[in-house]
Amino acid sequence: MSKLNHLKKEWKAVFSCMGCGDCGYAIRPAVGRYLTCPVKEVKGAEGFEIDFARGRMNVLKSILKGQIPLSRELAEWAYQCSECGNCTEVCHMSQNPYIILPTSNWIDHVKVWEALRKDLIEAGFAPLDRHENLIDYMRDSKMKNPYGEDKTKKIEWTEEFPEIRERGEFMFFGGCTIPLRQVDTLKNMMKILNAAGIKIAISKDEWCCGSIGLRIGDGNSVIDMAKHNVEEIRKTEAKIVFTACAGCYRTLKKDYPELLEEDLPFEVKHITEILIDMLNKNKIPFKAEESETLKVTYHDPCHLGRHMNLYEIPREVISKIPGIEFIEMKRNRKNAWCCGAGGGVKSQFADLAVEISKERIMEAIESGANVLTTSCPFCIGNLKDAYEEMSPEIQQKIKLIDIIDLLASKI
Ligand code: SF4
Ligand code: SF4
Repeated sequence: MSKLNHLKKEWKAVFSCMGCGDCGYAIRPAVGRYLTCPVKEVKGAEGFEIDFARGRMNVLKSILKGQIPLSRELAEWAYQCSECGNCTEVCHMSQNPYIILPTSNWIDHVKVWEALRKDLIEAGFAPLDRHENLIDYMRDSKMKNPYGEDKTKKIEWTEEFPEIRERGEFMFFGGCTIPLRQVDTLKNMMKILNAAGIKIAISKDEWCCGSIGLRIGDGNSVIDMAKHNVEEIRKTEAKIVFTACAGCYRTLKKDYPELLEEDLPFEVKHITEILIDMLNKNKIPFKAEESETLKVTYHDPCHLGRHMNLYEIPREVISKIPGIEFIEMKRNRKNAWCCGAGGGVKSQFADLAVEISKERIMEAIESGANVLTTSCPFCIGNLKDAYEEMSPEIQQKIKLIDIIDLLASKI
């Protein structure tokens, strides 16, 4: 019998769920009635009560009462949640500062879901197969990335840029997804930085930030990685560390200080915070404006928006790019629809992740935009996988492009 060490700490949150169901069927004046949970909504007629937060809380109540034991089957269910946090935004019992009730500080849903995942791991029912592979790759001394690629591949892109230093005020933390899967975006980032005269340092021995380990509840596998990465950053003498990945951003800025129980000796920023600074100082030399105006909408990555409250800066960046008309999707900022890739869903339940992204693409088209941009390689990768499965008629209505590539295309 599992000791439920982590879930027991969240018992108040679990039992304070009053079963209202807003986490499944919220009504908001701005957007009307719609389902809140991407997992529940995408499963449609096949969806069950336990797919969204109310049902999940009921299962957790039964686990805490000793009526349901932890099991592998339970783990298969627990990991079908992207940890997007949309349920927290509508829940009357959450930490939502806009909902003021005497009891409104009790449920941090993602924290609760992660507590269960930690207990499942400690009880030996998780990680699930694909997650286990990723953790193994992440720990392997020849890889240190969840893609199973050789460690040296992560820094191959730097060979084209001899101006990158070993030490400096600004350090770029590359993460794994962009250098291993979206290297053109990195080259575009360098095009922007060079045009603005910004010099950066990198570590040639950066390991995976550990986001996937944390999100699946295996924090122990990440402590060494956090220590190593902090030490590598320290060696560069950087005052500011920036990343172009929403997952790395959350992990470095929020999780590392908690894991290491100390403040970091540097500031962590997202690439959009660097870009807005350059734009405000007029450091980016845009080419002459083209006649065609792009209608651009922005997808809020969960790890940047709901998890870290960074909503406005990416929008400011987009609005300062010439030749763009910015359009909001119906569900934006705190109510943004998740891309479906987070929380380990992409690696273990790829079809589910892709179906959630298809809905986001349709919402972008409905907004009237012809470009959908975002500021996370994980989101753009999943959205593109979904796009590839959609019909040519839909594809011709919209293009998907990372915010870095969008800005670089105008220089
Ligand atoms: S975190 Fe997101 S995917 Fe998970 S239950 Fe809440 S709304 Fe659904
Ligand atoms: S909105 Fe909150 S209180 Fe209501 S059912 Fe969902 S988790 Fe429970």
